[in-house]
Amino acid sequence: MRLINIPFTENIVYKRNINPTDQRYIDFQRNGPKGIIVHDTSAGNPELRRYVAPDFNGLIGRNQFNNHWNQASVGELLVHAWIGKLVDGSVATVQAAPWNFRGLHVGSGTKGSYNNTHVGFEICDDGYKDANYFNAVYKEAVELCATICKEWQLDPIRDGVILGHYEAYQRGMGSNHNDPRIWFTKFGKSMNSFRSDVKKELDKLHTPTPIPIAPVVVNVSLDNIIADINGNIIITFNEPMNTTFGVVQLNNLPVLTGGLWSANNTIFTIPYYNLSHSTEYMVNISAFRNASGIIMSVNNRNNFSTVHWAKPVRDYLINTVGMVINQERYNDFCTRGETMAFLQNYHKALATQLKREGINIPI
Ligand SMILES: [Zn+2]
Repeated sequence: MRLINIPFTENIVYKRNINPTDQRYIDFQRNGPKGIIVHDTSAGNPELRRYVAPDFNGLIGRNQFNNHWNQASVGELLVHAWIGKLVDGSVATVQAAPWNFRGLHVGSGTKGSYNNTHVGFEICDDGYKDANYFNAVYKEAVELCATICKEWQLDPIRDGVILGHYEAYQRGMGSNHNDPRIWFTKFGKSMNSFRSDVKKELDKLHTPTPIPIAPVVVNVSLDNIIADINGNIIITFNEPMNTTFGVVQLNNLPVLTGGLWSANNTIFTIPYYNLSHSTEYMVNISAFRNASGIIMSVNNRNNFSTVHWAKPVRDYLINTVGMVINQERYNDFCTRGETMAFLQNYHKALATQLKREGINIPI
């Protein structure tokens, strides 16, 4: 809904609310509206400027024939709002009076008048021609009623709360008018569908918009327990993620590339290569988004320290070569250079030495 406030301060019924001439105005202002009457102008003119003045920021346009309703000459008539076309052809609502002012819009019937309890608004009709225009003003009217119902705690489904002018007449509470039945019926709507649409809209207004919750990393681990200099980082998120985004960076090295999603896009496994031994690496994770596009907050709470170079050498010799590596020998590795070439030379030298002792190990 697009609501523009243009108080009809020159209208005599509006003025009567400012300086109440009888108790009915005072009562209405004290009690607030108990319901809403829906009207259509039945005049074949959808322009707001036909009824509304003065203009507001050039949106409404100029009332050419000086026959708008914000003047004394319109007489004993005041509706609280108008729905129709702005100059640019789009649909908007103009509020002409506070919702707790007593208007004069529905007349009276054999049993009284809803003017004493209900606010009223007019939908400016276009001669009941254009379905698109009807759908736009119908939606605008639904939203307007939902807004009023919310503000004044009205139940749109309760009997007698939202009524068309013709229903007010049927109940002996309004003048003999047919609006907005013909227009609504032509485009497959009714006051019943209108009330239930207002209820749906009101339910939406009452449902708080959920605050988007950013996805979070729940676990970071490596696929090798020794924290080797080559391996994979496994990042687990708390919910399915959009697989398009994400940055993983170790310290301030170049951003890691590659990576695969698994477990319904909650786990991201990304390889790393050629790190330094005995070095601490911070895993900086950022820019990932969940399936709804909500971006994560940066996670840099996980780190690991790569293994001393001698550890994989020792494991290699024990597991692959089949040697017994005692602590003395292990200490020896640790004091020497840090290359695989050293391991191969060491392996070769050891094999030669052991061969002399009559022990064969594979080379
Ligand atoms: Zn009417």
